[in-house]
Amino acid sequence: MNYSRFLTAVSAARKPSPIRILTELQQRSPPTLISLAGGAPNPDTFPFHSASIKMKNGETIEFDGAMMKRALQYSGSYGIPELISWMKELQKRLHNPPTASFSPERGQMEMCVTTGSQEGLCKVFEMLVNPGDTVLLDAPTYSGTLAALQPLGCNIVNVPSDQYGMIPDSLRDILAQWDSHKPDSTTPKVLYTIPNGGNPTGASMTLERKQKVYELAKKYDFLIIEDDPYYFLQFQKPWASTFLSLDVDGRVIRTDSFSKILSSGLRIGFVTGPKPLVDRVVLHIQASTMHTSTLTQVRHLSLSLSLSLLIRLSLSFYRAQRNAMLSSADKWLKDVAEWHAPVAGMFLWIKLKGIKDTQQLIMEKALEKEVLLVPGGVFNIHSSEPCPYVRAAFSLSTPQQIDEVPHILGSVGISGAN
Ligand code: PMP
Repeated sequence: MNYSRFLTAVSAARKPSPIRILTELQQRSPPTLISLAGGAPNPDTFPFHSASIKMKNGETIEFDGAMMKRALQYSGSYGIPELISWMKELQKRLHNPPTASFSPERGQMEMCVTTGSQEGLCKVFEMLVNPGDTVLLDAPTYSGTLAALQPLGCNIVNVPSDQYGMIPDSLRDILAQWDSHKPDSTTPKVLYTIPNGGNPTGASMTLERKQKVYELAKKYDFLIIEDDPYYFLQFQKPWASTFLSLDVDGRVIRTDSFSKILSSGLRIGFVTGPKPLVDRVVLHIQASTMHTSTLTQVRHLSLSLSLSLLIRLSLSFYRAQRNAMLSSADKWLKDVAEWHAPVAGMFLWIKLKGIKDTQQLIMEKALEKEVLLVPGGVFNIHSSEPCPYVRAAFSLSTPQQIDEVPHILGSVGISGAN
């Protein structure tokens, strides 16, 4: 694929930083270089001596000596080599992408570490979206995506969706207004979607739908941004095949996150996609954060526990929380609301019957009763449009608290019905 037509002027103008290239060289292992290059400070002058972190499984992670120095030093903009190569292997294992050559000779795919997947998303949007460009997405969608996209002045086109994600027939109808053989400046360049446990809807897209959407992406030649932070929180097996796993052309850019299974505060995310595009994201990183915190990337911390253990622990917790939420909704909301059981993630998307808009109900009446939920309107492209939904996140509260919320929501919902 030729990616130049997809790039914004800002992204196309980015040039590699000569100094950052030196930093990548300095990361080479074993460290044989005597370097008088770069402007890195000497970590011997830093005040930290060592640190030790006790893990819940009884292990202790010690940061000292060379490890400590490394964790406190600048590092390369793609990410720490060990973390990146581990993650590349994982991507191959989980998604088996048809273009999965991460080798320099073939150079088709690339990955970089980002400060949470939010950084990756923001930078991918800035790379691809010019003012006036058409972007397809299935709203309601993640408010952080709207916050990143809307200031870019693009034309966001909403593709209808249901509990199985974006509806390909609706996408086909929307795309029919463009001639696939004669693209013009308004032909969509990018489609964004959250394929598993969508935020806020909890929707998960079926493989059949992904295949159809991918076919349309080929026909109209647009890129797909697959934002999948809830991938590791899928409650049923087998886990869904991803857009990345279908990507024969190199038109999928995937963002992953460790926020839900390792720590949201450590801020570790990943961008995976065609090398020419990931390289552009990295040029942006070079010019902004330079790299994700070295301390949080050090293999010791981020990969000290096996991924399957992390996933097992998180999944059994979230599955129980989801079940508590569903049984409470069944108990208290049956007559006043509708919802679909999410098969991934941490959200229940509740439609209150007979309510045009939940904003006042949630921000005044429910809050008065000490209950906080998110009125669904904030996830719409135009947040002022009335919306009968609320988003309930079942991640933080105890099962007892979870049981209380639908009870209160039911009572204010009935009194607020119009
Ligand atoms: N995408 C979606 C759909 C999300 O829900 C979130 C976090 N709530 C993010 C991206 C960002 O996650 P992080 O930066 O913590 O990886």
